[in-house]
Amino acid sequence: MTNDYDVIVVGAGPAGMMAAGTAASRGRRVLLVEKNRRLGEKLRITGGGRCNITNSEPHLSALLKKYGRAEKFLYSPFDVFGVADTFEFFTKRGLALKIEAENRVFPECQSAPEVERVMEEYCLQSGVTVLSDSPVQRVVVRDGKIIGVLVGDKNYNAESVILATGGLSHQETGSTGDGFKWLRDLGHRLAEPTPSIVPISVKEEWVKKLSGTSLANMKISFWVNGKRAFAKTGRLLFTHFGLSGPLILNSAKKISELLHEGKVIAKIDLYPEQDFSELEQEILRLFEENKNKSLRNIAKLILPEGMTPTILAMLDAGLVERRVHSVTKEERKAIIHLLKALPCTVQGLMGYDRAVIADGGVDISEIDMKTMRSKKYHNLYITGDLLHVERPSGGFSLQLCWTSGYVAGLNA
Ligand SMILES: Cc1cc2nc3c(=O)[nH]c(=O)nc-3n(C[C@H](O)[C@H](O)[C@H](O)COP(=O)(O)OP(=O)(O)OC[C@H]3O[C@@H](n4cnc5c(N)ncnc54)[C@H](O)[C@@H]3O)c2cc1C
Repeated sequence: MTNDYDVIVVGAGPAGMMAAGTAASRGRRVLLVEKNRRLGEKLRITGGGRCNITNSEPHLSALLKKYGRAEKFLYSPFDVFGVADTFEFFTKRGLALKIEAENRVFPECQSAPEVERVMEEYCLQSGVTVLSDSPVQRVVVRDGKIIGVLVGDKNYNAESVILATGGLSHQETGSTGDGFKWLRDLGHRLAEPTPSIVPISVKEEWVKKLSGTSLANMKISFWVNGKRAFAKTGRLLFTHFGLSGPLILNSAKKISELLHEGKVIAKIDLYPEQDFSELEQEILRLFEENKNKSLRNIAKLILPEGMTPTILAMLDAGLVERRVHSVTKEERKAIIHLLKALPCTVQGLMGYDRAVIADGGVDISEIDMKTMRSKKYHNLYITGDLLHVERPSGGFSLQLCWTSGYVAGLNA
């Protein structure tokens, strides 16, 4: 039997496009099959449309520790294509990158669709044949060997197949978990996916009314059944269903564990850099300088932008209209307590539709990570969100796609 192609890549997300372009650059005849009409639908919405393309943590071991238990498996693929290679790959193609807070890297143009365009161009210029609008039904196996894929009623044969069908988050982008099912049928062990890196829903209406407000350097402590469990600092985003932003996304896993234990309350500290008495001193000074003004009139001098109406609505209406020189010590302390521990009731994690990644996927001990080749089928390669690798938000997911896609493309 002659093969139509040397390599078939299923799924044109970041991992699949990197794999296809890289294999084709080596002179392989590559078919990239994508179920959507457009390539890279999820890539186009990454990083709120800005695409946090990688993370520039300078120390490899610190970087790989972010991937939890997968750390020791990742040294070898990152040695072949690491963060420096990602920088070189994109800048060489005219996409300048810049480093922001917490080593998050974004394209200077702040455009995720531009990143997608670069990847698509990489595929086309390398000679990849793209078959879009074409859902793969299954991987075709004959005599224990993978021989290709079935699209509609047509078989496409190839020497190697690279799977890059993604996970289960934001299924409207095409990632519906098809690869998980095929891999399970092929005998791979898969960890059950749960939405991770996901926002939370909260009960309080005031939170939802603040939808769109984003506050840097906030601290949130999480309490379960009245006991403090843990705290985190970072950017907080209010949404129409609750709370999001890096601070929340990176706490989601722990929050989900707490929710099994009981009632979870999140307390937002709007002034994490000042302790109670430092904040009290600052407020006393402000009251002193504005003695004859009402609390309402001076609130915006101290409260974070966008928060003033919300905080004032939580205070006694009479107190808000009083001149600050008449605010009692107890009232002042109550205000400070509120500012340092604004409570909201956590209802739960949002689902796959809002998740940045859903974990789960193939147990990486079943993959030769030097090549991304399945240890069960010598001509099957597995990449991107199909891998069961934990990671926080911050560019680590896309870096895993660039790395695993490149290594698969180099070896298939
Ligand atoms: C809202 C959001 C924001 C994110 N922001 C960031 C960020 O800023 N930085 C970061 O590092 N990560 C981010 N991520 C995570 C990142 O997008 C994923 O890790 C990444 O897209 C996974 O790439 P992938 O190539 O493995 O799969 P995907 O991007 O999911 O692509 C899989 C492709 O396979 C196709 N496909 C599926 N089944 C079939 C089939 N049967 N036949 C043919 N084609 C099929 C799909 O249509 C899809 O195009 C974000 C995720 C979301 C949801």
